[in-house]
Amino acid sequence: MKQSIEEIEVAGKRVLMRVDFNVPMVDGVITDDRRIQMALPTIKSVIDRGGMVTLLSHLGRPSGNGFEEKFSLVPVANRLSELLGSEVSCSDDDQSSPLILRENLRFNSGELSGDKTFASELSTGADIYCNDAFGTAHRDHASLVAVQHAMEGKPRVAGLLLSKELEYLDHTITNAKHPFVVVLGGAKVSDKMGVIEHLLGKVDTILIGGAMAYTFLVASNEQVGSSVVEHDRIEDARSLLVAVEESTTTLILPQDHVCAQHIEKGTPVQIVKGPIPNDWFGVDIGPEAMSTFTDTLKSAQTIVWNGPMGVYETPPFDIGTRQIAQAIAEATESGAVSIVGGGDSAAAISAFELNSKMTHISTGGGASLQMLEGRAFSSVTLLDDAV
Ligand code: ADP
Ligand code: MG
Repeated sequence: MKQSIEEIEVAGKRVLMRVDFNVPMVDGVITDDRRIQMALPTIKSVIDRGGMVTLLSHLGRPSGNGFEEKFSLVPVANRLSELLGSEVSCSDDDQSSPLILRENLRFNSGELSGDKTFASELSTGADIYCNDAFGTAHRDHASLVAVQHAMEGKPRVAGLLLSKELEYLDHTITNAKHPFVVVLGGAKVSDKMGVIEHLLGKVDTILIGGAMAYTFLVASNEQVGSSVVEHDRIEDARSLLVAVEESTTTLILPQDHVCAQHIEKGTPVQIVKGPIPNDWFGVDIGPEAMSTFTDTLKSAQTIVWNGPMGVYETPPFDIGTRQIAQAIAEATESGAVSIVGGGDSAAAISAFELNSKMTHISTGGGASLQMLEGRAFSSVTLLDDAV
């Protein structure tokens, strides 16, 4: 466990806090301020105890050659100021205001390259470092790693958001109660292969749906018609299936499919069990797969879910994803711990209005997958261990 900001003295001290204010914006107007809202508890925890805060964030992808109006964090500073009811200074030169938001870190090319000089400039005047940016915690950028080297000897701690992510994605999973069931779906097989590999022998059952199932079905010599397949990963999928056979983990692929010829509302569909005809492709798991998957989830004590079961954006191809989400919600109600990662899975849960039914919905897509692969992040490893 990492030392949390709540456990250390901050009165009269300046906390350099890396947050994720990479909010969606249209013409300088923030369209969704959830990331700012979510950072409030950590910021307030410092301010309420008499500390001062310098916030660090990136926003979008500026060129790295200095200030660009459209990537400025000024609108974020204004919104934060409204939410906190106190002044937020958006400046790189201000060293004394109680609450400062530095301009977009990526205006300086040193951020992405992890530059030491930029990091030591960031750390000037800071007494404590706090990482609360889980979504970028798997990166080795200057504000995440080099800055911690620059502040060696000073307290370096986790913010409340990061602590919560680590609690679930690391602690809960490492000490998982069984049956431990992992549901994987979505489109990107390559992203999720490492997760399967790492979890072999640790989880009881892996359920695979979504487009990624078709690469595995081809690897098991099934005919998948024109379903989405990552052809250059078929061999890897085949080796992985052999490794599964040799492990204590059971991997279940959908035995039937909802198939279509176009991804659009109202297009004709057929349920296919067995070979999928050429010209047809799987758009959702079939009814038998739905009941196999939901039955498996019923008895689970720990559930990790990443990736939708079908093209959930286009109803009725959202049914499989919806049923899985409902089954996970019910298992959670009966005492299971449920952890959801991935942008599309989180969006689906929101659309089904099941957010409050899950134990934890991760804020980091790439970061949560890398945690599930068992990778260590320097930006986390360098933080002080809890005493
Ligand atoms: P997440 O963001 O939760 O990690 P991914 O980004 O890997 O998930 O995948 C989500 C995408 O996968 C969605 O856009 C969804 O439409 C697509 N998808 C799911 N099943 C299929 C399928 N059978 N065929 C094509 N696309 C699919
Ligand atoms: Mg996605």
